[in-house]
Amino acid sequence: MRFRLSPLLPGLLTLAFVALVPCAFAQQNFDNVQIEVIEVAEGVYMLRGSGGNLGLSVGDDGAFLIDDQFAPLTEKILAAIATISDKPVRFVVNTHWHGDHTGGNENMGAAGAVLVAHENVRARMSVEQFMKAFDRTVPASPPGALPVITFTDAITFHWNGDDLHVFHVDPAHTDGDAIIHFKGANAVHMGDTYFSGMYPFIDVGSGGSIDGMMAAADEVLALADDATKIIPGHGPLSNKAELQAYRDMLATARDRIHKLISEGKSQEEVVAAKPTSDLDAEWGGGFMQPDVWVGIVYESMAAGH
Ligand SMILES: [Zn+2]
Repeated sequence: MRFRLSPLLPGLLTLAFVALVPCAFAQQNFDNVQIEVIEVAEGVYMLRGSGGNLGLSVGDDGAFLIDDQFAPLTEKILAAIATISDKPVRFVVNTHWHGDHTGGNENMGAAGAVLVAHENVRARMSVEQFMKAFDRTVPASPPGALPVITFTDAITFHWNGDDLHVFHVDPAHTDGDAIIHFKGANAVHMGDTYFSGMYPFIDVGSGGSIDGMMAAADEVLALADDATKIIPGHGPLSNKAELQAYRDMLATARDRIHKLISEGKSQEEVVAAKPTSDLDAEWGGGFMQPDVWVGIVYESMAAGH
């Protein structure tokens, strides 16, 4: 197993820490991260380390990986895959451009994987990005980290005896989201369109939208049944009933905030009104604090998304 560890991108990591882990972990050392392997279905796994949840298909054709967390974790991720399969990683599909999902791209590409993503992922990674929600500039990614195959609506991999349908949804978490449906295995990886059990981050500056988040959930609910395993971008492995509850929560928050906006309330006034207070105990325990969540939903609607 050969790969090259690239130098850290300080901006990218800082962004990811701010965006996706509590401040208490800001000094986290990747040396202490362990990769947890969770069997989802036959030949399908979810891997958790630090950053977005990974999806994995293994079989005779080779390993097919969804997202790759951070560059310093590549060696551990490949070692975890090697405990399941002796085949190399042939493809990496990115669910969107954020650094906790694409940080290992350059290493994976150097190790021989073909990088695949929606065309807007490559477009955003190719140039500097400004994350308004966190007041952060994210530098352009090196050429070796960029997806080499891009798609617009959908692409299907006939791989490991299954059909892996990778489809774009209208802007939800970002404008380059992809959802992966393992049709035979009856499993789905939703990327960051789904944060299981918690308020999600919506990257309005990258085209994200509360209405798009609801629509993405609806698309997966329509293809899922009670046995479907659903891998979220963040949070534990999930299922249709939990996704439905999350979708209902999104709609409730959206409708309440929409009402306050239509009454002429400012963003500060909407946040101060605590429109999700009865939901916060159940959904506000992740890294999106309730006030931040309400502000982001407000911004999504104010931006016309
Ligand atoms: Zn994300």
